[in-house]
Amino acid sequence: STLHGVRAAMRPVPFLEDIVVPPPALPDALRRFQEVLKQQQATAMLFGHAGQGQLHLRPHADPRQPGERQRLEALAEAIYAEVAQVGGTIGGEQGLGLSRSPFFRRLFPELADVFDHIKTVFDPVGLLNPVRLAAAAGASAAFELAPFRRGLDHQARPPADAVESPPPVSPLPVLTWARERLAVESDACNGCGSCRSLEVATRTCPRYRENPREEASPRAKANVMAAVLSGGIDPKALSSEEVRLVADTCFNCHQCRTDCAAGVDIPAIVMELKAAHHAANSIEIDRWLLSRVDTLSALAGRIKPLANWAIANPQSRWILEKTVGVARGRKLPPFTGRRFMKWAARRGITRPSRRSGPRVLYFLDTYARWHDPLLAQAFVGVLERNGIGVFVDPRQVASGMPLVAEGDLDGARRLARKNIRILAEAVRLGYRIVCTEPSTVTCITHDYPLLLDDDELPRVAAATCDAMTFLWELHREGRLRLDFRPVPSRLLYHAPCHSRIGSAAATPAEHLLRLIPGLTLEGVDRGCSGMAGTFGLARENYRTSLRIGLGLVSAMRAGGIEAGATECSACRIQMEQGTTKPAVHPVKVLAKAYGLLEGRSPHGLDGLLTATSGSLTTT
Ligand code: SF4
Ligand code: SF4
Repeated sequence: STLHGVRAAMRPVPFLEDIVVPPPALPDALRRFQEVLKQQQATAMLFGHAGQGQLHLRPHADPRQPGERQRLEALAEAIYAEVAQVGGTIGGEQGLGLSRSPFFRRLFPELADVFDHIKTVFDPVGLLNPVRLAAAAGASAAFELAPFRRGLDHQARPPADAVESPPPVSPLPVLTWARERLAVESDACNGCGSCRSLEVATRTCPRYRENPREEASPRAKANVMAAVLSGGIDPKALSSEEVRLVADTCFNCHQCRTDCAAGVDIPAIVMELKAAHHAANSIEIDRWLLSRVDTLSALAGRIKPLANWAIANPQSRWILEKTVGVARGRKLPPFTGRRFMKWAARRGITRPSRRSGPRVLYFLDTYARWHDPLLAQAFVGVLERNGIGVFVDPRQVASGMPLVAEGDLDGARRLARKNIRILAEAVRLGYRIVCTEPSTVTCITHDYPLLLDDDELPRVAAATCDAMTFLWELHREGRLRLDFRPVPSRLLYHAPCHSRIGSAAATPAEHLLRLIPGLTLEGVDRGCSGMAGTFGLARENYRTSLRIGLGLVSAMRAGGIEAGATECSACRIQMEQGTTKPAVHPVKVLAKAYGLLEGRSPHGLDGLLTATSGSLTTT
């Protein structure tokens, strides 16, 4: 993946992708390939499956340079000739497409005729993939390659009228990176299509899986951006409905950053696309309101009894759906007002901690602040139990993640500026910044550096992590207290997408929960929950969200599971949808195991199964 992730004009290009030779002929084939590469003065990366004799050869090329297409075509011709010599084939697993069909017909004419006959039996009038499959591609058909197809070689092959009409200037980038870096990032997508996988072993891409059209794939976003930057698409199209539809098929889960071998930052590219559209268009009132969910929760908290009655009443939910756009079928968490901040002030943690030793600034998210004060209290309790000083700075504001997801980068920037001042001050005083909401960490570490040009940002980003990562680090350093009481329960653990950015391995939360005696954890991955922040709240996304999260919701319904556990508040809402079983933050389970949460039963989970049950006692 190091080579896949090369950010340079010259990079590995996938197209000699599906060579298969008889395994005993592999050494001979490799020597022959090396000879061809030497003769043609080409460099390539090679990987494969030796047991099956399958090889992926990716020559280094710069698709923007004139002559590269011809150079690669000659290289393919020579390599494929060697494949035929050793008794192999050029399309063993992935089939023949635009980049292989013409060669196949030239190298294996008799076999190509057989393919033609077979295809004609099933497709007599040539409706299926008419320009791609072997039958349609003549021996002299044009050699096609993904990076060339999407217009990256626009500069190499200017259209006849390009001299009179230079490509229009695009308003990009909107983010802090230079235009060249944005271009390099978009070009880093090599078109391999791994992000269109429907395998259960990966999560990328939840939106594409639900609706497998090319526009919904992560690579479509890179392709649109690359085409705009190279002049292949008029930049005016950035404000069009078509581009918005492509950008809107991303709900910011960041799973493509985990699964794309080239590590293309698709969410950042989507931020650019959405921001460009947002800057040129007005926004619907319901989208505007949902992107300010923090303000709505704060206002509703001021009129708690009325707001909580309204979200439980079918008639008022109908009105809410028509005005604010919140799906009436969606279960919503009750509003609790400023309960946590009042508790924190009474406890004296809204002032910098006087404790010596490790200290944490707890960065609150919307859910913990306005809907689940017990979660915030439980986290403070767990930290203090382990001798960590806690500071909840009352000046902090919402992270701005819903604004980023909507493309309102000016609004997100205003919040980011306020927060960064506070966070940077704390980091200078030696605090770690810790959040109980994983997407808040993504917002601070990934989005803020793209929104603001501020020297403090790298230090703040390096000091920020989520609650479970922080506690797991403590454990690895031998500093986490392990005097847990048994919690004899069976939980379904769901790893939220934002906790598995960069690695699909077991999350710190899963490791920590497994330390609790008596607790049985079901941790099989059921994919994305489909909520993605406010996405699953919106009327128009409600059913899509449920379809994406069906695996998880069904797993919650399974017999024997008492409750769900996950760090993400939106995932918890989805896990509770369609079942009466509750879902809790793992921090609450840890607090329970420390004996910090009193409930009806001294051992079971019933004391923390709802946000308002139980009361926190800390020493
Ligand atoms: S974005 Fe998709 S197509 Fe592009 S390199 Fe990554 S996995 Fe391959
Ligand atoms: S961030 Fe998520 S939804 Fe967006 S393209 Fe990547 S995997 Fe798909």
